[in-house]
Amino acid sequence: MTNDARAIVIGAGLGGLSAAMRLGAKGYAVTVLDRLDRSGGRGSSISQDGHRFDLGPTIVTVPQVFESLWAACGRDFRQDVDLRPLDPFYEVRWPDGTKFAACGDDDRMFAEISKISPSDLKGYKRFLKDSAARYVVGFEGMVAKPMHRLWETIKVLPKFAQLRADRSIYGLAAARVKDEKLRMALSFHPLFIGGDPAHVTSMYALVAHLEKEFGVHYAMGGVQAIADAMAKVVRAQGGVIRHETQVDEIHVEDGAATGVSLTDGTRLDAGLVVSNADAGHTYDHLLRNHTKRRWTSRKLSRRRWSMGLYVWYFGTKGTADMWPDLGHHTIQNGPRFTGLLRDIFMKGKLADDMSLYVHRPSVTDPTAAPAGDDTFYVLSPVPHLGWKNAVDWQTEEPIYREKVAAVLEGMMPGFRERISTELVFTPETFRDRYLSPHGAGFSLEPRILQSAWFRPHNVSEEARGLYLVGAGTHPGAGLPGVVSSAEVLGKLVPDAPVVMDAPRLAAE
Ligand SMILES: Cc1cc2nc3c(=O)[nH]c(=O)nc-3n(C[C@H](O)[C@H](O)[C@H](O)COP(=O)(O)OP(=O)(O)OC[C@H]3O[C@@H](n4cnc5c(N)ncnc54)[C@H](O)[C@@H]3O)c2cc1C
Repeated sequence: MTNDARAIVIGAGLGGLSAAMRLGAKGYAVTVLDRLDRSGGRGSSISQDGHRFDLGPTIVTVPQVFESLWAACGRDFRQDVDLRPLDPFYEVRWPDGTKFAACGDDDRMFAEISKISPSDLKGYKRFLKDSAARYVVGFEGMVAKPMHRLWETIKVLPKFAQLRADRSIYGLAAARVKDEKLRMALSFHPLFIGGDPAHVTSMYALVAHLEKEFGVHYAMGGVQAIADAMAKVVRAQGGVIRHETQVDEIHVEDGAATGVSLTDGTRLDAGLVVSNADAGHTYDHLLRNHTKRRWTSRKLSRRRWSMGLYVWYFGTKGTADMWPDLGHHTIQNGPRFTGLLRDIFMKGKLADDMSLYVHRPSVTDPTAAPAGDDTFYVLSPVPHLGWKNAVDWQTEEPIYREKVAAVLEGMMPGFRERISTELVFTPETFRDRYLSPHGAGFSLEPRILQSAWFRPHNVSEEARGLYLVGAGTHPGAGLPGVVSSAEVLGKLVPDAPVVMDAPRLAAE
């Protein structure tokens, strides 16, 4: 086999695994290399004392991106992964006890809106229309399309102007509803992909439409189960996945990527290299010995990076019947919304107050915790490490944990005495575990001037035969985003010159 038919994928995150599946389907002999001990990247899990901590993504939207990926490989996603729709999708809470349960049913949503602010019902209905219009342009029109030609971005500008894409999603919500709580409930979604709702484009209002039309789902076994199913397809296609294997450099000769070197000095050759490592790490570190045309260190250092994350994972003993009103997904607001966003995204300041996302998978998935027990994670958005006077988490972590615990105590009285096992991730963990620049939770922030053509391209600007997938490239972070980045890759890469004899998965 010639090197032209060999492909190396750096990183076994959901983006890298999707890329490997697409390339396998095109006949490439694929080798996936990841520094972690298992597949999934941010979507992987850690099992500890009988509890499975799903480390990152918990909300699965737009399941059809997975279905079409599987279909491209001649497989049926629903046969391989048990995806369950959730109802309600999630609950949003405020310190005064107000609760808002989001779901896909219009009448129930209208009742939830009216409960908080009856006069905002009309504005909410307008927001739903705004959301649907943005879905057509922003999701159907752009997400799975190659955006490396400037013309493709220029083409959508008139539509963007018409839809007031210059306005932030919070700005759009504020124009439609008067109640501050509802403004938050309609605009917080970009936080799940690392964007500041007060600054990212109102095009992200499309998420409300996605949720309503396609639901919010949970993968039994956590997103790890999706990653494992992907890895199984890759291996069945004849691909190889090597864990605990770190790439140190991408080789470029005569302007073309020719392979990689590992940190142990081994060199692997391939005609096609796909990086699922963060775009910043790819250009700043893996291509450090190559002169860059676009993504110089200086340029990368001037980009805006998504926020960092403080995540406290813990198991609790004998609590399955406790806190019965605490469901699978809960967002607990603090006293401030826009002020807190300003501290995190504009000032780089770790505030004393916080908004928390609480994940309790054990109410849906008995495999997450031992019988009668619970598994939780609690996430607080915090500044990334790139600010002057960045937080020193070695010192700050125990202090911050007490502040988080104080808020949680209001939601789950007595939880601390029930904790049987725990684990904490800070932005420093994201930096060291995922090699994420500034320890950011979601790579480059999805600002309008860091999206589409303005984002690092799927087909690298720096070397022929080098491609990027995952959160730092087009279309961006989130499971639908990173899986779609591999769909774009599939459109850019020709079939392998030598058709491989792909072994079939054993029939189940
Ligand atoms: C806490 C949290 C909650 C989230 N919640 C949601 C959610 O509910 N729904 C949703 O849709 N999205 C969510 N997201 C976002 C989503 O998880 C990510 O955008 C997505 O998983 C990123 O996938 P990826 O393939 O780009 O990268 P990653 O998952 O980061 O994978 C990249 C892989 O590359 C490896 N790697 C990096 N450099 C090298 C190297 N030099 N050599 C070898 N390997 C390397 C890393 O170890 C990693 O395994 C969440 C993210 C986090 C962190």
